[in-house]
Amino acid sequence: MKIILSTDNAHKLKEIAELLDGKVELLSKTEAGYGDIHPVEDGDTLEANALIKIKDIQSGAEDFIIGDDTGLFVRALNGEPGVYSARYAGAEGNDEKNRTKLLKALEGIEDRSAYFKTVIAVKHGNETYTVEGICSGRITEEERGDAGFGYDPIFVPNGEEKTFAEMTDDEKNKISHRGRALQAFIKSINLA
Ligand code: IMP
Repeated sequence: MKIILSTDNAHKLKEIAELLDGKVELLSKTEAGYGDIHPVEDGDTLEANALIKIKDIQSGAEDFIIGDDTGLFVRALNGEPGVYSARYAGAEGNDEKNRTKLLKALEGIEDRSAYFKTVIAVKHGNETYTVEGICSGRITEEERGDAGFGYDPIFVPNGEEKTFAEMTDDEKNKISHRGRALQAFIKSINLA
């Protein structure tokens, strides 16, 4: 049995490798021979996009193929950027532009509550299902920290003082949306 990820993102591969602790063989999209497929993620929900990421990947009946999609949902912005988090600042945008746009949209707004949600779609033989993880917190007034990626420098989880970008990988993975979704996946395959 092996687990195939629908990504070549080094951050994501490292995170799940640490959680699996060498118990199962793990292959990236390229290692599994699917490096050339880039399905268009045009779903309206995280679930739809997670399923799109795994639809063209095949493997043995005993293997698990997983794809994840994440969004940051900000209450004062009616859930924006949500499913469009990656392209919040436009098709030519990047992580830094996304953060700048979000801080600007929240200027002068007191309610800074937000949550990250990750959905993982799992394909195993003829079965397909999803699991999810949520991390609630708040958006800071300015960027803090150099670690992580994406919106990490402007997100503080509930009960914490540090942004995700001020935490070690270990600290973040224990409480993060993706860490929680991965733990739910691992539980679903009876490894934990
Ligand atoms: P994706 O679904 O992993 O491609 O992520 C969608 C968007 O959310 C991208 O803009 C990512 O940078 C952002 N994102 C995903 N996971 C995280 C995280 O753990 N911290 C901060 N930003 C994230």
